[in-house]
Amino acid sequence: MDQNVRYSIIIPVYNEEAVVEETYRRLTGVMKSLQEPYELLFINDGSKDHTAEIVEGVAKRDHSVKLLDFSRNFGHQIAITAGMDYARGEAIIIIDADLQDPPELIPDMIEKWKDGYEVVYAKRAKRKGETLFKKWTAAIFYRTLRSLTEVDIPIDTGDFRLMDRRVCEAMRSVREKNRFVRGLVSWVGFRQTAIEYERDERFAGETKYPLKKMLRFSMDGITSFSHKPLKLATYLGFLISFSSFIYLLVSVCQRLFTTNTVSGWTSLIACVLLLNGVILILLGILGEYVGRIYDETKGRPLYLLRNNPYAEVSARKEVS
Ligand code: UDP
Ligand code: MG
Repeated sequence: MDQNVRYSIIIPVYNEEAVVEETYRRLTGVMKSLQEPYELLFINDGSKDHTAEIVEGVAKRDHSVKLLDFSRNFGHQIAITAGMDYARGEAIIIIDADLQDPPELIPDMIEKWKDGYEVVYAKRAKRKGETLFKKWTAAIFYRTLRSLTEVDIPIDTGDFRLMDRRVCEAMRSVREKNRFVRGLVSWVGFRQTAIEYERDERFAGETKYPLKKMLRFSMDGITSFSHKPLKLATYLGFLISFSSFIYLLVSVCQRLFTTNTVSGWTSLIACVLLLNGVILILLGILGEYVGRIYDETKGRPLYLLRNNPYAEVSARKEVS
């Protein structure tokens, strides 16, 4: 760990050429006012635009800026993880690049950290400039996740948070592949506290989380922290078997004691289709877990880098 760095800011960027300079400007303003050494660690998650070049340009002018350049797009959660692997500060802050998370909140987080808290997460009291669909799905997701898991994952909280060095080290020891970082931070424990804030609109550009990524992200969250969906098969199995048995008894009684027999085809087809649907859904749920087990067994690295952000630093160290 470099003693010269007190705060590390982790900023994942994916096709953010429209915002990245403004992000740098606002973050620098806030960090300079603290008058303690800091670093801004940008993780370029395989952007297809000029994000990397812009950050490189800034890094040449300002040595507190570092760039971690991924060989391709590995995803937001992996980008944050890489940031934690390379961050050298005593306190590590994760923030989105699009300025939806206001950098001006960082000094408040640092205050709490100095009070002795090891994780300070920012809870979204309000979300501005996001679609109703996004707000609703997010609200439902956080509540479902909470009801499914025993880990105390705070609701309406993103990855915008401060972590102490100790928490960061603990996080680094967790190497699972399909990562849900905000859940893992709860899982590692330590003294945690929240501060509330209003989530701003995106400064420029569009969301980098289309529906497909959002779905995958939520599945990662649920499968990483709960086995309950797997038990659904057992519960449904019992329920359906029990109701079928009752139905069978009723049908036999009708046949024996009344003149009308139960007529067949339509109800038969309805049952067959319904049950097949249920079985396929349950197989799908099982598949989500099996696929993730498969990912774990392959033992591939979490990400690949094109550069070493501290190459010059370590070279200098070796010489001295
Ligand atoms: N991001 C990333 N890789 C991706 C998608 C997003 O590094 O594959 C970054 C993005 O540049 C931003 C942050 O993750 O800094 C959050 O993304 P975004 O603001 O698009 O998500 P939203 O706020 O719409 O949920
Ligand atoms: Mg955003």
